[in-house]
Amino acid sequence: MSPMSTLQAKLVARIAEDGPLGIDAYMQACLLDPDFGYYTTRPSIGTDGDFTTAPEISQMFGELLGLSLAQCWMDQGSAPAFLLAELGPGRGTLMADILRATRHVPGFHAAMRILLVEASPRLRAIQRTTLEGFDLGWREDLTGLPGIPLFLVANEFLDALPIRQFRRAEGDLWEERRVERGLQGLTPGYAEPRALPALDYRLGDTRSGDIVEISEAAQGWGRAIGAHVARHGGVALLVDYGGWRSLGDTLQALRDKAPADPFETPGEADLTAHVDFAEIARAALPAAATRLETQGVFLERLGITARAQALAKGLSGAALDSHVSAHRRLTHPEEMGTLFKILALIPPGQRPPPGLEPGIRF
Ligand code: SAH
Repeated sequence: MSPMSTLQAKLVARIAEDGPLGIDAYMQACLLDPDFGYYTTRPSIGTDGDFTTAPEISQMFGELLGLSLAQCWMDQGSAPAFLLAELGPGRGTLMADILRATRHVPGFHAAMRILLVEASPRLRAIQRTTLEGFDLGWREDLTGLPGIPLFLVANEFLDALPIRQFRRAEGDLWEERRVERGLQGLTPGYAEPRALPALDYRLGDTRSGDIVEISEAAQGWGRAIGAHVARHGGVALLVDYGGWRSLGDTLQALRDKAPADPFETPGEADLTAHVDFAEIARAALPAAATRLETQGVFLERLGITARAQALAKGLSGAALDSHVSAHRRLTHPEEMGTLFKILALIPPGQRPPPGLEPGIRF
């Protein structure tokens, strides 16, 4: 028998005590356990980590998002004080690019208050270094914010939030997927079928055997952002991989840059799931949501090609090759261009940010 990792032993003991864990409780422990969680213990993001993200691939991503936010701020009347917020800033690269790109927007830096939502103390320390020279405030959530407009970005944050998975059984019953004690370590299983009024709205577009995912945490962020933006103004740009309404098991583990079994090495692999943007847009009411757009189309509309050409002028050799391939990675349909989507939450009646279109009404 292989020796159990420490988090695995901790979870086996917890299951023996309290019974099987929902996928949400399992993800929460794997990612954020204070002693063994993946984000608590690993470099995780960037070239030495398990995965790399759009802002780590190229500065163009953050620059364009920053200019888009600044345009929205001006469209909404250039408020003299506003919150510039990021959820899950990782190494702080995206915020650094946003700040550099908006440096010459008149009044923007003087009016902003930077707010970072980060759970991991280790990443907070890295963000402090990356963003040296700026006044920074960290928070755990969005409760008790001052009543000023909120201009927010989140890249690959929502996909790290815990999900629950339900398999449609006979009739209108659902079986929740959960983590049980296996012969060795942990193994996935299903609870007894039961009725679930919260999933009534999925009875029309699913069949027996289908899996749907919900994220109460993602809904909570959507609710908090939507309430604030609808009342005090601002915009949220949410970028992640996923789609409009979840269908199928999208829980995945990445360990040392390779796909892994999500239940085999808890705490040692990054766990993510596709984001269901529809559940976030729905939770954000009365804020309005734009149409879900692909990252590639969005960045092209914001002029990434012109920006890439301008940057290319100063480069040659390997640096130029890597710049060209970064542009392709961000936008090409076979790379991140179509898999990644962007949704903006805006005050009702407000014009969408540049590059996005008005969305459907619920
Ligand atoms: N946005 C960055 C990093 C993405 S990784 C980038 O694009 O490179 C996900 C980030 O979200 C990490 O910083 C992680 O520590 C943070 N995070 C995950 N779950 C969180 C939670 N529940 N509350 C606050 N931060 C969280």
